[in-house]
Amino acid sequence: MNASHFIAEKVAAVDVSGIRRIFDRAATLKNPMDLSIGQPDFDVPAPIKEAAIEAIRAGYSGYTPTRGVPALCDRLCAKLAEEFPDWDPTVMVTCGVSGGLVLSLMACVNPGDEVIYGDPYFVSYKSLTPLLGGRSVIVDLDDGFQPDPDRFAAAITPKTKLIVLNSPSNPTGVVYEADRVRAIAELARKHDLLIVTDEIYDLLCYDGRSPSPADFAPERTLLLRGFGKSYGMTGWRMGFAAGPAEILTSMMKIQQYTFVCAPHMAQRAVLTAMDTDMSATVNAYRAKRNLMVGELEGTFEFVRPSGGFYVFPKAPAKYASGTAFVEAAIKNNVMIIPGGVFSERDTHVRISYAADNEILEKACDVLRSLAG
Ligand code: PMP
Repeated sequence: MNASHFIAEKVAAVDVSGIRRIFDRAATLKNPMDLSIGQPDFDVPAPIKEAAIEAIRAGYSGYTPTRGVPALCDRLCAKLAEEFPDWDPTVMVTCGVSGGLVLSLMACVNPGDEVIYGDPYFVSYKSLTPLLGGRSVIVDLDDGFQPDPDRFAAAITPKTKLIVLNSPSNPTGVVYEADRVRAIAELARKHDLLIVTDEIYDLLCYDGRSPSPADFAPERTLLLRGFGKSYGMTGWRMGFAAGPAEILTSMMKIQQYTFVCAPHMAQRAVLTAMDTDMSATVNAYRAKRNLMVGELEGTFEFVRPSGGFYVFPKAPAKYASGTAFVEAAIKNNVMIIPGGVFSERDTHVRISYAADNEILEKACDVLRSLAG
């Protein structure tokens, strides 16, 4: 029996074909230079692994409170208080930032409510928004991939509920300018909107801290952060949400019936992660960023990234689209992702530099020769 008629229409409408096509093509490659990766190439620091093992040995295997292990929630609150002295948010532990995104949209979006975010965007915003009943309102970022407050203002309607910001950004690596974030925070105040700020790459900043709407309008900020990218533990599914008590209480209500809680041993280990100095890793990733800028400069048109581990160059003019350039790259054993996965336009490509420097150099040689 073909069971596809059981699938809900809103699920059937979610498109994964763009990424799937690329991975299907790449599956035939023997030893590809993989620059399509969305996770760091470093291992979880040993003390954090030990803390997880110790937590399992100590029997931390049951459910935690829905909100998270109290010691971790307290620690997260204390850390946020250092960074945002004028903010007193309610905090909960989520199953990665994805868990936080699902809970925030479920908690806030009524059918037909509009959710504004910039293009290029992180893929999940476009899939999750309609899945959870909202309507995506996609606003072009400017040529520097910065949010233009005037464009955001023009997109606001009486149905607008949320603005989603993402700095440092996936797929562009751009860190937003403080003035832009401040202006969007003011817009949110003026139009009574909530800002969901996806700050999963907050520790991976190479030219200074990424400004947060919590700096400017903390009372209407729902902040989502995670541990996966900064500590190399994407599979541990650890994140947290901070924001207004009413919203966080509703998110906890939904967590109780869905995720239940984040993995217990991982919550315990994250307490150790918060004591672990990651500056050597951040320095190594800054060096990778510099390496990539040097490799691509002169051949590709791109905005210099300042965070995360992506760069989002324009496909060279001789290719009809981002996809056409990706296909040429795959034929030459280099895996990258077409920009159309993250945008309404298929004009760019996403290159991840979460890979060994030698692979980065070899892959960039290939990309440069394809561009020439
Ligand atoms: N937001 C952005 C911008 C991301 O890049 C990712 C991971 N690719 C996520 C959210 C999801 O993160 P997590 O693994 O913590 O669910």
